[in-house]
Amino acid sequence: MLNLKDNTLLRSQLFIDGAWVDADNGAVMPVLNPATKEKIIDIPNAGAAETRRAIEAADVAFQSWKNIVAKERSAILKRWFALMMEHQEDLAQLMTAEQGKPLAESRGEVGYGASFVEWFAEEGRRVYGDTIESNNPTQRIVTLKQPVGVVAAITPWNFPIAMITRKVAPALAAGCTIVLKPATETPLCALALADLAERAGVPKGVFSVVAGNKARDIGGEMTGSSIVRKLTFTGSTEIGKVLMKQCADTVKKTSMELGGNAPFIVFDDADLDEAVIGAMASKYRNAGQTCVCANRILVQESVFDAFTEKLVAAVNALKVGNGADEGVTIGPLINDDAFTKVSAIVDQATSNGAKVLVGGKGTDAEGENFYHPTVLVDVDDTMDVYNEEIFGPIAPIFKFKTEEEAIRIGNDTPFGLSAYFYSRDIGRIWRVSEGLDYGIVGVNEGIISTEVAPFGGVKESGIGREGSKYGIDDYLEVKYLNMGGI
Ligand code: ADP
Repeated sequence: MLNLKDNTLLRSQLFIDGAWVDADNGAVMPVLNPATKEKIIDIPNAGAAETRRAIEAADVAFQSWKNIVAKERSAILKRWFALMMEHQEDLAQLMTAEQGKPLAESRGEVGYGASFVEWFAEEGRRVYGDTIESNNPTQRIVTLKQPVGVVAAITPWNFPIAMITRKVAPALAAGCTIVLKPATETPLCALALADLAERAGVPKGVFSVVAGNKARDIGGEMTGSSIVRKLTFTGSTEIGKVLMKQCADTVKKTSMELGGNAPFIVFDDADLDEAVIGAMASKYRNAGQTCVCANRILVQESVFDAFTEKLVAAVNALKVGNGADEGVTIGPLINDDAFTKVSAIVDQATSNGAKVLVGGKGTDAEGENFYHPTVLVDVDDTMDVYNEEIFGPIAPIFKFKTEEEAIRIGNDTPFGLSAYFYSRDIGRIWRVSEGLDYGIVGVNEGIISTEVAPFGGVKESGIGREGSKYGIDDYLEVKYLNMGGI
């Protein structure tokens, strides 16, 4: 049972145009706890009509929100940040209930998610244009940065708060209004965030949440609308491509945070203990369900056995269970489909010769969606563990001989989100950092997410950057004024 200090944060309605409402046809959808498969609560199952109303409300609200001075928007965002931190424990409880991750990780994500709100409250006050020297002495040229307009956001279930604030905070700071469709699996954190935004003083229509399982209807309305000027999406590359195509008809700006296939490279001069700590953090956080999780662990021949032995020991110390229980470090996978997919990837590898050093199967004792943290060796590039984003607690370890080979293997994927490597050689650190075709490179570091740095991918991992001083640019248009006759 969910026992929140402030039970009003457990919302069971949509938030549209500043009002808490049901679906037009009264339809509801259950939100399940992935650890127990029990229903937490029913929420309205929204569709195209509710989405359209939220978009129209955002259009009206934009006319006034864009004209509020940045300092005032910043003050509202700061209040929202403070409220998130004040309710950190309740938000973490909600997150673990609907998403499954261990409570310690949920608390961490609430802080991380809130950090984007604080950051963009600050960045929103530092949006500057330019003055440009004209070729003509009778002209003066300046640029203005203006909000792009109404934004639609679609977010995934693996980070039910941070993936939202990383979009909503810069949008609001820039003067945009926004309609959010959270993941079907994790609407409760999104609705709680809307509740806190309302308490912080975000005006009606500026931030609406349309939840439910009719992703295609909601997404179709968002992408088809001529009011919406920008779509920001985090999720799979497959759906990202569909949405980009849908946005083409109205030539929307898009930001896409898509899938990854991160190499985690351990060179022979690495500090192996540090590399194991980094690999554990990168691979097993959120039960392996993050887009920046180490996907392929590449270890140089001479340290392969030593690294593998240490990694297996660390994996054996993990504790699988309900994320709400003390000491648990690996929660359930999000749902049956995720479990089936992860099982299939491992089975495909083992039936082609991969060897399981630990794990390799589900752990029935804890419940149906739990997969044992796994280490595989004797893997190769024909296997799904090499080619696909695993999205589960599976670490396949590949062997390489030279630095050139490591870079080649690292880049041997259509994805380009995050990569990691461990080395103490300064020349190698520069060469490999420059050689890896990725938006993010962790050097002797397994955790790379922070609000101060630009997060985003190249190749089929996406378009745009979130967080950092660059994150607000995605929500701003540059207008140039040419003043003649001077
Ligand atoms: P994941 O594998 O993380 O579930 P998805 O890309 O399937 O990744 O989902 C990410 C988000 O996209 C979720 O909010 C999901 O509901 C939404 N989504 C899935 N399919 C569509 C679609 N056809 N149109 C719009 N949104 C979609």
